Amino acid sequence: PVFTVADIRKTFLDFFAAKGHTVVPSSSLVPGNDPTLMFTNSGMVQFKDVFLGVDKRPYVRATSVQACLRAGGKHNDLENVGYTARHHTFFEMLGNWSFGDYFKRESLKWAWELLTEVYKLPAERLLATVYEEDDEAYDIWTKEIGLPPERVIRIGDNKGGRYKSDNFWMMADTGPCGPCSEIFYDHGDHIPGGPPGSPDEDGDRFIEIWNNVFMQFNMAEDGSVTPLPAPCVDTGMGLERLAAILQHVHSNYEIDIFDALIKAASRETGEQDLGHKSLRVIADHIRATAFLVSDGVNPSNEGRGYVQRRIIRRAIRHGYLLGKKTPFFHKLVADLAGLMGDAYPRLAADAQRITEVLKAEEERFFETLETGMQILDAALADGVKVLPGEVAFKLHDTYGFPLDLSADVCRERGLSVDEAGFAVAMDRQKAQARAAGKFKMDRALDYSGTGNVFTGYEHLEETSKIIAIYAEGISAAALKAGQNGV
Ligand code: ATP
Ligand code: MG
Ligand code: MG
Ligand code: MG
Repeated sequence: PVFTVADIRKTFLDFFAAKGHTVVPSSSLVPGNDPTLMFTNSGMVQFKDVFLGVDKRPYVRATSVQACLRAGGKHNDLENVGYTARHHTFFEMLGNWSFGDYFKRESLKWAWELLTEVYKLPAERLLATVYEEDDEAYDIWTKEIGLPPERVIRIGDNKGGRYKSDNFWMMADTGPCGPCSEIFYDHGDHIPGGPPGSPDEDGDRFIEIWNNVFMQFNMAEDGSVTPLPAPCVDTGMGLERLAAILQHVHSNYEIDIFDALIKAASRETGEQDLGHKSLRVIADHIRATAFLVSDGVNPSNEGRGYVQRRIIRRAIRHGYLLGKKTPFFHKLVADLAGLMGDAYPRLAADAQRITEVLKAEEERFFETLETGMQILDAALADGVKVLPGEVAFKLHDTYGFPLDLSADVCRERGLSVDEAGFAVAMDRQKAQARAAGKFKMDRALDYSGTGNVFTGYEHLEETSKIIAIYAEGISAAALKAGQNGV
């Protein structure tokens, strides 16, 4: 029997419930307890204060399936969508937690038991990483679980500096931190990519599925660590990545939910090639944007709402690339609600409102999209390698093209954008506006509509805000593009 996404969720929660975990519902994509965090990007976000000791729960073991978004903010996978087999903006994270209760041994053994005995993954395809100094985790894997030593990889401080490692987790610059152990699945040597720790680890052959974080230290301002009185466990496994393995496909975009969404996108755009990158982007982005509206984030020019606008407009532009000249994206909301409404009843209940919000944004952007694309095409004609910053800014300012949208178009054509020139043009315009007395800072807007005021960027000027939001994603994309010779 093939595990559907719905089966996988239920199996996970049942497994940990049977081991004494309280099943906790997914929290909003807008963190209720952390104004510095743009979006909920992992299952632990709703428990952050429990780890910090300022919140208490009536349980010491919890499990959840958490809706996550990695676009804008600290984690940004927006630029990976359409380029890797394993990254989404919106995805679901399966997690289990110990708040000062069990620790490494139970966490790793249960992970192994669930993967190999319940989901029945072939053990010989699994690998684990541990932090270089974490002999305890290494020994649990090799001596107690029986993973062959050649498939347990120690990862040291590989990110430049003490405790800067893919296998050392920190909540922030100070506070709870500790080593982690990640489980990878080998999709086979017909796929390019190397094992974790190797130079080509970013390929899609060895795909990371489950991260087990062991919070055992407290980091002080000076970088020194002391043991926490009650160590905690925080784990996260990507539902879509596990589904790909269980449904015998390589890419997340081939699993049941995505297959259905891509077919719906094909129906609306007329694109027949179901492997087309733009269909994948549209399928990814309908999930992100619909869940965002459901959680109160409407498109706007600020903060979270601007990330929302960027994702919607990217999706629309991909539809345009497939030949659509009229609103289509909002029509996918009904399909999505049908696919995910059982697991997320609020999404189903909000479907009508979500459709309307997306439709209004589409109508707005379609007014300027065509002219903007003509300007972009003209600027990129005649062997131009870099889109001038002035043009990127004009597209942003007059035609509603977010910088990353122009960058996305350029990347498709093997070109880049002059980001510094964009910033200069934007600064110049702002200086002029300020001189004319028109400049007005919007402060402490309620972006979420939930009464949570997002103040994380309040002290920054508009330009730096926008640049900061883009910088991470675009430079990561540029790096990748360079590596892959795209
Ligand atoms: P990767 O190295 O592949 O980008 P990560 O190390 O950033 O993953 P974690 O922060 O450790 O991921 O998150 C825990 C788990 O969540 C991962 O092991 C993976 O299964 C899943 N995950 C992370 N990012 C994404 C994403 N963008 N889309 C889908 N699943 C994801
Ligand atoms: Mg990542
Ligand atoms: Mg990783
Ligand atoms: Mg990881």
